[in-house]
Amino acid sequence: MDFRSDTVTQPTPAMKQAMMDAALGDDVFGDDPTVLQLQEMAAQLLGFEAALFAPSGTQTNLIALMTHCQRGDEAIVGQQWHTYRWEGGGMAVLGSIQPQPLEHQADGSIALADIEGAIKPDDPHFARTRLIALENTTGGKVLPLTYMRDVRGLAQRHGLATHIDGARLFNAAVALAGAEGDPIQQAREICRDYDSLSLCLSKGLGAPVGSVLLGSKTFIQQARRTRKMLGGGMRQAGMLAAAGIYALQHNVHRMAEDHANAGLLAAGLADAIAAHPRLSGNAEVQAAQTNIVFMDIAATLGPALVQHLANNNVKVTSGYHRLKDRSVSRVRWVTHLDVDRSDVEQALQAVAGFQP
Ligand SMILES: *Cc1c(COP(=O)(O)O)cnc(C)c1O
Repeated sequence: MDFRSDTVTQPTPAMKQAMMDAALGDDVFGDDPTVLQLQEMAAQLLGFEAALFAPSGTQTNLIALMTHCQRGDEAIVGQQWHTYRWEGGGMAVLGSIQPQPLEHQADGSIALADIEGAIKPDDPHFARTRLIALENTTGGKVLPLTYMRDVRGLAQRHGLATHIDGARLFNAAVALAGAEGDPIQQAREICRDYDSLSLCLSKGLGAPVGSVLLGSKTFIQQARRTRKMLGGGMRQAGMLAAAGIYALQHNVHRMAEDHANAGLLAAGLADAIAAHPRLSGNAEVQAAQTNIVFMDIAATLGPALVQHLANNNVKVTSGYHRLKDRSVSRVRWVTHLDVDRSDVEQALQAVAGFQP
């Protein structure tokens, strides 16, 4: 029972068959038909002119940042966002781009006033503010569509480019669509009028490898050069792209199951904590909006709980986390294709059996 991340999913036999059957070419020469098909499909699905397949989301984000920004430009990012915190400082190291990180609000967004306040005037003292990068979902939270619109408007007023790190875009879209709506249409709404978007195929979508960068034709043309420079040009990449096509065709709508399982897990954890002699008062669970559940537990108990779970064949990730008034262990649970309802139930039993 591997709740560490939605990246751990194994390709299914049907996905592997699609990979085996893929027509191949050489994508650096631009003639791998399956890569071309994936790129066209993704662009059309999400309402962009063009797309580019790359090995990872870290790379599609970096390509986007380096395509929007030149040396000495500045990108506004969130303090906790992947582009700033979880990509090895790539934008600074490889792009000579200055990140301007900003604190988050409780809902995961960055206050519009904070963004506006961080935009530098045209003055030789300052780096040139060039780009606002958002992340959606962020920590499993869905940024509201009105917020997406407001940030886009703000960027337009200041002549800034906009990028969405949509590693888990479809989790956001499926959550916004609810039971009745169309996730594809919601996904298009999230990225409407944004300049670029990075989408991971290897998370909730269940492909083994790959991300797609989307943007205008001109943007993607430039991005192709940056991808080559970063070593992301792949040859018979159609084998990987075929998994991405399969994922987009089969694994978007089913994410609702992952969200239901995360909801079940969050509610079950809250109950297990309340009923537990040591966890009660020492642990807290955040409600899940999509497929990620965070549980904060007293730093004195966290490592023992994680070890106990591992002993019971339940894998999670955890780390030191600073709240306003204290430090806690923050345990992260992610639901995906390869964990089902009974795995959630077994994991909850393991939590209930914790004896520190
Ligand atoms: C996973 C993730 C990425 C990219 O990760 P890779 O492992 O490089 O594919 C980018 N942004 C966010 C928000 C992510 O969760």
